[in-house]
Amino acid sequence: AKKQGKDRYEIFEPAMQAVFQAGLRMEADLRRAVVRHEFELRYQPIVHLRTGEITGLEALVRWQHPERGIIPPLDFIPLAEETGMIVPIGEWVLREACRQAARWNEQREDGRPLSVSVNLSAVQLDQADLPEVVASALSNSGLPATSLVIELTESLLVDHRPSTLHQLEKIKSLGVRLAIDDFGTGYSSLAYLRRFPIDIIKIDKSFVDDVGDVPAAAALTLGIIQLGQALHLSTIAEGIEDAGQLSELTDGNCELGQGYYFAEPLNDVDMGELLFPSS
Ligand code: C2E
Ligand code: CA
Ligand code: CA
Ligand code: CA
Repeated sequence: AKKQGKDRYEIFEPAMQAVFQAGLRMEADLRRAVVRHEFELRYQPIVHLRTGEITGLEALVRWQHPERGIIPPLDFIPLAEETGMIVPIGEWVLREACRQAARWNEQREDGRPLSVSVNLSAVQLDQADLPEVVASALSNSGLPATSLVIELTESLLVDHRPSTLHQLEKIKSLGVRLAIDDFGTGYSSLAYLRRFPIDIIKIDKSFVDDVGDVPAAAALTLGIIQLGQALHLSTIAEGIEDAGQLSELTDGNCELGQGYYFAEPLNDVDMGELLFPSS
């Protein structure tokens, strides 16, 4: 048995070592990225479906790696969560998104102020000082709390600690709104709506994808929209890519939406152009 174990070790060692080293390299790169501020934000418009008016923006992080170019969030957020680096990265995202939204709102002479939505990781929610960090991002930027939305995924709420509810209530007491992201993809979405002080439901893209051609997807989507109405929550449909999906959702009285049909996530310059076409 001992020999078998040793043989196995030898067979897997080179491959394992390569994976391990790539992981270490990535971790070292990420540490450097935090120190050197290699992150950028993209902004995707959130649109009022009936009027086409942009009512808000979702901030989405990117890593501008010096050799590898733009790295999407799903390729580094898990490592950032494991290593705790999501805490400084997430704080930067929050501060930068508030700062940029406040600046755009200053330039908007008419219309209601835009809201900005920021994704939060469970690791951030475990930080006792998160409510203070949110309050400080708001006061430093001048963004009113009512213009900030914090997006939480169901997986974040699934493994919630006793402190999670308390943290969320503190953040809500500032006037910040809470959105539940990827709604309908978890096991107990409905339970979370009862347990947590949610203001906004984001209907997962997987429902929106099929809303025009799969009757069950359409029925579920309409059901979620009606649920939102009954609970006085806003509904945002995610990942709208074509006019057919838009008209199904509009007919179903979905209030808001985002997706490539309207705009991809844009950098600050392009988003500025979209918001202020003449300048
Ligand atoms: P999410 O919060 O569900 O964000 C929506 C994702 O769908 C974004 O991908 C967006 O670019 C993409 N998307 C938007 N419209 C469409 C569409 O019409 N079609 C398709 N195919 N995709 C669309 P992205 O930017 O790559 O972000 C992926 C995920 O990474 C996000 O999913 C979110 O969970 C996470 N993430 C992004 N930024 C942050 C952040 O600052 N902090 C944390 N903790 N997570 C983040
Ligand atoms: Ca989100
Ligand atoms: Ca989502
Ligand atoms: Ca389709």
